[in-house]
Amino acid sequence: MTTVQADTDTGADTDTDTDAQLRALAEQAGRDLEDASALEILQWAADTFGKQFCVTSSMEDAVVSHLASRAYPGVDVVFLDTGYHFPETIGTRDAVEAVMDVNVITLTPRQTVAEQDAEHGPKLHDRNPDLCCALRKVEPLERGLTKYRAWATGLRRDESPTRANTPVVGWDEKRRKVKISPIARWTQDDVDAYVSEHGVLTNPLLMDGYPSVGCAPCTRRVLEGEDARAGRWSGSAKTECGLHG
Ligand code: SF4
Repeated sequence: MTTVQADTDTGADTDTDTDAQLRALAEQAGRDLEDASALEILQWAADTFGKQFCVTSSMEDAVVSHLASRAYPGVDVVFLDTGYHFPETIGTRDAVEAVMDVNVITLTPRQTVAEQDAEHGPKLHDRNPDLCCALRKVEPLERGLTKYRAWATGLRRDESPTRANTPVVGWDEKRRKVKISPIARWTQDDVDAYVSEHGVLTNPLLMDGYPSVGCAPCTRRVLEGEDARAGRWSGSAKTECGLHG
């Protein structure tokens, strides 16, 4: 396992011409691959970007990591260790690394939780979750993605209204990367079927009332009839951590 805290290699071109070319490539691929299978989408990403492509995983399950490892064995799987994860999530990360043909890269924030508490006061997640996510998720991810041209996520259109228009391949203007969501069109039933067919690792919390798993202080079990992400930042207007905005 690799843990990254310092700035990473900045090998990727980020000049305006390259950005325009990458954006056009992403938009064309989004149209061309709308009806392609998740594996075909990831095979396109592997063929197009090679080592400059990674998967990000929250370790809710390892479905996209598993698919990506079929398309590109040894693919980089980037995990954000916010310091606030459930032990089950860290265990899932360790199990993925142990059994799958992937290279797990763990990104950490610039400050430990204790250092953040000393600067901003304890339980920043309760008082200013946007700042907490910015410090513990958004900044480390942006730093960690620097060396890649494309990243894949497990976003699905059926997860919430804010994700309903997720393209299978699109342009991430904020990070100037190609953003690939190979299972955007999948339903929960599709995920369950893939997990069952391939014996894919899943976070044990999924079987314990948490259909969406985030940081422990900001995740609760969902109630009957609630949408899958209702347990995230429950009681506040916040619905996303800023990684996908
Ligand atoms: Fe902080 Fe909660 Fe965001 Fe995790 S999900 S980084 S604990 S505000």
